[in-house]
Amino acid sequence: MERVQLKPGREKALLRRHPWVFSGAVVGVSGSPGDGDTVEIQSSDGDFLAWGAYSSRSQIRSRVWSWDSAERIDERFFRNRLSTAIAARQTLLSSDQTNAVRLVHAESDGLPGLIVDRYGEILVTQILSCGAEHWRDVIVELLLELSGAKSVYERSDVDVRSLEGLVERKGLMAGEAVAAVVRIHERGLSYWVDLHSGHKTGFYLDQRANRGRLRDYAQGREVLDCFSYSGGFAVAALAGGAISVLAIDSSARALELARENVLLNELPAHKAELLEGDVFQQLREFRDRARSFDLIVLDPPKFAPTAAQAQRAARGYKDINLLAFKLLRPGGILFTFSCSGGVDMDLFQKIVAGAALDAGVDAQILEHLHQDLDHPVALNFPEGEYLKGLVIRKL
Ligand code: SAH
Repeated sequence: MERVQLKPGREKALLRRHPWVFSGAVVGVSGSPGDGDTVEIQSSDGDFLAWGAYSSRSQIRSRVWSWDSAERIDERFFRNRLSTAIAARQTLLSSDQTNAVRLVHAESDGLPGLIVDRYGEILVTQILSCGAEHWRDVIVELLLELSGAKSVYERSDVDVRSLEGLVERKGLMAGEAVAAVVRIHERGLSYWVDLHSGHKTGFYLDQRANRGRLRDYAQGREVLDCFSYSGGFAVAALAGGAISVLAIDSSARALELARENVLLNELPAHKAELLEGDVFQQLREFRDRARSFDLIVLDPPKFAPTAAQAQRAARGYKDINLLAFKLLRPGGILFTFSCSGGVDMDLFQKIVAGAALDAGVDAQILEHLHQDLDHPVALNFPEGEYLKGLVIRKL
């Protein structure tokens, strides 16, 4: 029997059903498991704690599949977990609001290291752990069967795989060949999604509800969309009746898609200006030229993947938020986000409050925003909550 035994007192996290076993908590491994093999995780007293997937190189030595000693980790196990995850998104999909949703949100759906997004008839996966990698063929077969999708495409071209000793992978896993760029719909709007080389699996599905919120604030406002990527927020703003939208991103390819997304929705292209550049620099330039806006979106990339980088990240967030407060007209609205796992809502709110203080601005929080509901957070896995946002009014 392949077993991972914990040091005395190190079973506490597992008893709270946190699904990660860190290497520092392990006293010994017996049976020489290979990467991805199922191991029994035991307390120092030899009590069963969980079944997990083994990972010899990662700091996370094992990720838990199941807390039930009677459970077998086999095809049936994955069938159950995947069916549950897919069924939980059925309301969203059948509501006709959208044909693009996250079907599997890794640890939060009891499937550590596995992300699956659905774009119409195509599923896009990210396989981020040895355990999910070990079961990839079983998972792909089941995904096709249970979702009824026509293709599964892999976007495991992410550097976190190296932490698990896995090489990056990308390409068709099963089914029909997929076009590089596909069209999705969301609340009456359409977007082009670059499956082959876009960010993440192609689109920021986690911001769906927040795009909807922004739309409700956009009427009659001059909008600045910072870190716009393919224009998710910019398109929503124009659809909501914005006077103009200026979208900034450092990626020319992202802006090209943003332009096509404006055209796809037959929105007035002359109202959309797309600027390739560095947001930090551009905001300073706008401040120096005394430019102002009625609505600003700040949706930067992850500055702090873990709490260890939170300090450096805090400086980055404070910098852009302070500048945004200066550029906002009185009564203006700020949509400000952080997708850093290492910065929680409480800290983020403090950083933004500090930015307002230093900018000499009085402001009010109107709304707290989160990742959309197809990205749930398991109660035993608070790390699953990564996206937080504030809607703020400058007085
Ligand atoms: N708001 C987008 C997602 C933003 S992702 C949406 O909802 O779809 C972050 C984006 O920031 C990426 O498109 C990346 O190209 C861009 N980016 C990263 N650093 C940047 C910088 N310093 N200046 C401008 N854009 C940057």
